[in-house]
Amino acid sequence: MLFSFINTDGFALGRPSEEVSSSDNIKNERSALKVQLAGDLNSVKLGGIGIYIVSGGRKFSINNAAREFEVLPYKKGFMIRGHGYRKLFKTASIDVVSLAGSLRIRMVPFSGYLRIYRSGKSLGLINVTDFENYLAAVLSREYEGRAGNEMLKALAVVVRTGLLKQLAEKKENNDPYDIKDDLPAYIGEGEYGRMLKIVRETRNQVLYEGKDLYHAMYHSSCGGSTDKVKCPYCEAAPGFVWRFDITPDELERKLLLDGYKIRGLKAVYINTKTDNGRISRLHITAANGSFYIDTGRLQSLIGTDRIRSSAFSVSGNEKLITIIGKGSGHGMGLCKWGSIMMDRRGFKYSDILNKYFPGMDLRYYSNENI
Ligand SMILES: [Zn+2]
Repeated sequence: MLFSFINTDGFALGRPSEEVSSSDNIKNERSALKVQLAGDLNSVKLGGIGIYIVSGGRKFSINNAAREFEVLPYKKGFMIRGHGYRKLFKTASIDVVSLAGSLRIRMVPFSGYLRIYRSGKSLGLINVTDFENYLAAVLSREYEGRAGNEMLKALAVVVRTGLLKQLAEKKENNDPYDIKDDLPAYIGEGEYGRMLKIVRETRNQVLYEGKDLYHAMYHSSCGGSTDKVKCPYCEAAPGFVWRFDITPDELERKLLLDGYKIRGLKAVYINTKTDNGRISRLHITAANGSFYIDTGRLQSLIGTDRIRSSAFSVSGNEKLITIIGKGSGHGMGLCKWGSIMMDRRGFKYSDILNKYFPGMDLRYYSNENI
C-alpha cells in the first residue's frame, strides 16, 4: 500500500502549532489529537516546498535537495530519497512539517502536521492536529443538506461526545495515536470556517448519562423511528423511501459467495424485529433447507447504498424479491435529517438533543467524570 501526497501545485506547511501540546490527557479542545491515517504503508511519497523533517528534536530541510521525495522504512528508522538525494534517520518517528503554507493531502489543506512512525516492517502515518480543528473537520464532512446552525450545534455535541467517549475508553497501550480515521483534519473542504465557529460556540458541551459520557451516535435519516424515539421529521431526506429488487438467483449467488450452502432459493421472510420495528434478521427458504441472515450482514453483502437501512419490508415471488425501506443509516442516536427539519421549524439545539437523546444531560465536559 502506498500513500502519495504528490500534488501538482506542491504542498506545504502544517507547522506544529504552539497550541498543540501533549495529548496524554485531553482536557479541553486546545489539546493535541493524534489521528492515525494508515498503519501499513510501504512508502510515503511527499512533495512540495518548504518542508522540514523533525527528528529527535532537530530540524532538517529536505527540499532544498529534492522537491519530491519518498520516505521508506530502513533498518529501525527511515530512509528519505529523491532525485539523487538520500538521508537516513534513526529515530522511531519523524515529523513532516512546513513553514511555507498548509500541508495538503490530495490537494486539500489540513490542520497540523504529519508524523511517520515505524509500525513493524511498515510505516504508520499520523495527522497531529488539535481536537477543535479535528471536530470542525468531521462536522464539515458529516453535515447534510443546508443544515442550520442549531442542527450543526446538536451534531457538534454528538460528535464531540462520541470522540471523548472513545478516548476515555481507549485502553492503555503504546499506540502512538489516539484515534483512527481515513481522513486528516481537512480545513479546506465544505464550510470549514462555519463549522469551526459552531464547534467554538458549543465548546466542551457533551451528553452525559448520569456521570458517564454517553455513547452518542448519529445517522443520516431514521425512517420514522430511531433506536429510542419516534421521529416525524426526516421525511424530507433525499431518497427517504428506497426500493431494492433482486432475483432469487442473484441473491442465491451472493449468499453462496458469502459461504451459505444454499441451493434453490425460494423466498425471503422477516424473522426478527427490534423494539423500534427495524429488521434484525431474515429467514430464507430454499430447496435444501432454511437459512438465516442478519440484516447487517445482508447489507454488507449487497451494499449499504442499496439496502440503505434496516427499516424495510420484504415482498416478492419466485421471479423477483423486492425490499422497500425508509431512511438511511443505522438509526441510532441523532437523526441528521430529522434535526435539519427541527432546526427549520425553530427548535434550538438543546431541544434537538432532548428529542433524540431522552434522559441524557447536556453538560460541560469535565475530565474528572471519567
Ligand atoms: Zn428521523
